[in-house]
Amino acid sequence: MKGMKFLFCAGISAVAYASVVSIRAQADVSNNAVVKYIQDGIKNKSWQPTSEQDRLHKSTMLPQNKYRFGKARPEGIVIHETANPKSTIENEISYMYQHWRTAFVHDFVDGHKLIGVADTDYQCWGAGAVANTRFIQIEQLEVHSKDEFAREQLHSAKFVADQLSKYRLGNAINRKSVWTHADVSKYLGGTNHSDPINYWHNSSKNWFAGDYTINDFIWLVNQIKNKTLMLGVVKK
Ligand SMILES: [Zn+2]
Repeated sequence: MKGMKFLFCAGISAVAYASVVSIRAQADVSNNAVVKYIQDGIKNKSWQPTSEQDRLHKSTMLPQNKYRFGKARPEGIVIHETANPKSTIENEISYMYQHWRTAFVHDFVDGHKLIGVADTDYQCWGAGAVANTRFIQIEQLEVHSKDEFAREQLHSAKFVADQLSKYRLGNAINRKSVWTHADVSKYLGGTNHSDPINYWHNSSKNWFAGDYTINDFIWLVNQIKNKTLMLGVVKK
């Protein structure tokens, strides 16, 4: 890692808005290649979302600032990506514990693990002054294979679905309950990063010959949340 700017994010772009109507319209079918690959993995390769590893006992040094509406009142979830092709989930976490005064998130995820490092009942510091007071935040690691990328999206979508259920935030809706860091930069301000757009775009282009956007991710989240995707999900 070369410094703070490499820890949390990078990229460019804008994101399409998914209305409630379009989410309902796409309820049963997604033609996205990444989503189809995940569905195939669940059906034919026994893929399941990984259980969250709890490292909260190590985060006692982290500040516990309430969200703008109070403790345990997040308004949604922000998706980040490290923009560091060489880092691992463990070195991102140890770096975060050393530099939490500059930035920290609630959870880290890669193709194999989902690790909770900060209490989601309180703010973290990863997406600027406006978003930090409102949202839970999860950081995706850059992974290096088709299967790892697909499984990272599955683990992330399950995490988001669980938070939406836990905090009674309804279905995933872009720029309401689910935001990319790019969305935050463009629509809320206080930050200028545009992750995970490039990571998602480049990964899906390399391994799936197509694109993968926040709309595809949100479709996945809602399928998991509403248990219409075959997961055998066990609630934590
Ligand atoms: Zn970010």
